[in-house]
Amino acid sequence: MCDAVSRAMSDVSALPESSRRRFLQALGVTAAAGGMVAAGLGSAQAAPRGRGHRPVRNRTRLVLLGTAGGPVHQSHDHYGVSTAVVYEDRVYVVDLGLGAYRRLIESGLSPLGTGAASLSQVRGIFFTHLHSDHTTDWPAVYATGPMNAVGRPQGSVIEVFGPGDRGTLPRVFPPGRAVPEVVNPEQPTAGISGMTGYLRQAFSQDFNDRTRDSNFPGPESLFHVQDIDLTGIWDVDPAGTPPRLDRPIEVWQDGDVRITATLVDHHPTAPAFAYRFDTPDGSVVVSGDTTVSANLIDLARDTDYLVHEVIDPAYVDQIVASLPPAIGGPLREHLIAAHTTIEQVGRDVAEPAGARNLVLNHLVPADSSRRRWAAAQHGYSGRLIVGEDLLQLGIGR
Ligand SMILES: [Zn+2]
Ligand SMILES: [Zn+2]
Repeated sequence: MCDAVSRAMSDVSALPESSRRRFLQALGVTAAAGGMVAAGLGSAQAAPRGRGHRPVRNRTRLVLLGTAGGPVHQSHDHYGVSTAVVYEDRVYVVDLGLGAYRRLIESGLSPLGTGAASLSQVRGIFFTHLHSDHTTDWPAVYATGPMNAVGRPQGSVIEVFGPGDRGTLPRVFPPGRAVPEVVNPEQPTAGISGMTGYLRQAFSQDFNDRTRDSNFPGPESLFHVQDIDLTGIWDVDPAGTPPRLDRPIEVWQDGDVRITATLVDHHPTAPAFAYRFDTPDGSVVVSGDTTVSANLIDLARDTDYLVHEVIDPAYVDQIVASLPPAIGGPLREHLIAAHTTIEQVGRDVAEPAGARNLVLNHLVPADSSRRRWAAAQHGYSGRLIVGEDLLQLGIGR
């Protein structure tokens, strides 16, 4: 979703009014005088379906915090993508889409169940890639973290991992289009540590006020941010395909919990990672955004839960139908080439991986019908679960 739709959203400004309106309606967005208004916001607020999910008691568990994919926000039930893996009282979070921080509090994954302790049990945060639908809540978590970590052991940090600065801009698409102005030419592809450095500058007044006047610690006392080192693995090329890895990337061994990663294929956004969490009770793999990836299938071999992104190609067809073929055709190719369809995810990924459970996540569009998602069962012999916000699943005892 992500990049290609954003690009189409900017391209679409050049279209005639009638085509532009049809395109925006297909995205769930309508143009309004003075700006853009998300469709449906005026309708009755529905309680998130996930709110009814009961906590599970297993020592290792999977908690879906947010299940919507893409930068278009149009569902009351599905917040931006974010996934928690919990072992005993340790919480590991993959991605922080819009609303993830709120969902973390709602999930009860803090001992007091209050905002002041919402990060008290978070051990690690893992970014799959830096598309905004996976990072939007990172500024909120980073800026307010030290005030929401009541109960943490003295001196303990939250380890944060993600892509580094790849240093190369993607090509302009479609070819021949005027080259857009580069944002932040000094560091146009800042990785997670570079991005966090900019956040520290952006919030400097608040950090200085609180550390000097209120004796709060600064964010660097709580967060230890690291780029995943790809030296000797891949000289990252946004137009290229990630190399086939013969073993996973070791990210972190946190006591009984081993976290590994692999390179998935979400071109032209690179690098993009999938993560695997192994505990004494079993394993969880989170795909991030990717097309069908042999590296991901290797990483997910015999896993208990494969949490995998999915896109409905009928939705893509709906978007591109409103566009001239010269824009719509390549856009469709882009969306399908960078993501995994309903038809592919069970048959071509979960089945060859031998995943016991396939959890559909990063739903695009988030409000598609359960009947549509259920089609992912074709060709897959394991258990299919359609992701819902705050759904909890237990692993082992
Ligand atoms: Zn993405
Ligand atoms: Zn995404």
